[in-house]
Amino acid sequence: MTGILRKTYLLFIFFIVLPACYSQQPSMQQKDSLKFNNKIVPDTIWREAYVALSHYPELKDTPIEFRFKKNIKKSFMQAQPKLGGLFKKKENRSYLILINEEFSIEDEKLDISMVPSEVLIGWIGHELGHIMDYRDRSALGLIWFGLKYITSDNYIREAERAADTYAVNHGLGEQIIATKDFILNHSRLSDIYKARIEDLYLSQEEIMVLIDEIHEETTH
Ligand SMILES: [Zn+2]
Repeated sequence: MTGILRKTYLLFIFFIVLPACYSQQPSMQQKDSLKFNNKIVPDTIWREAYVALSHYPELKDTPIEFRFKKNIKKSFMQAQPKLGGLFKKKENRSYLILINEEFSIEDEKLDISMVPSEVLIGWIGHELGHIMDYRDRSALGLIWFGLKYITSDNYIREAERAADTYAVNHGLGEQIIATKDFILNHSRLSDIYKARIEDLYLSQEEIMVLIDEIHEETTH
């Protein structure tokens, strides 16, 4: 896909598709037992979400809804601030993690049931990394973030690396590596998608270095 087409597509997602899905009522059962605070998690990914969230004590009370959605064409998961709460105080903001029920890239399909648990934990951990990143930004900062994300590959690279780094710093390094490994070695995903992941995200080697750095910090 050419650069312009891709940007048009992202603009479409950001301004048309995402606002449209905010208007729907959450249909998934709310799991607000002792284990979750302010979280809405579909039953199928409940365990993985629980494990990933347990690595982020800062997000314990942050309202986050995980919601399955059909046809998010470019990505498997997507973390967003909820538009309705965008101008609330930072601590009262709520977030949405959209998950593709069926991940299709260039006619290849990947069902969520085909994704191993550890990979799913890494994937959710990465999205929670984005939320950590969004938490510190003002409403205008988030809008600016959205615009830059749409228009600049360099900015996507920066944002995706920040999310991976948060996940690794929160003890999810191995799961993040499992996620990369799954994507890069998955025969059903296209080479174009894999190349894009390699270009924009931290490599497995870079993640290993990060894990080592944390290990050194905690043992010295
Ligand atoms: Zn990401």
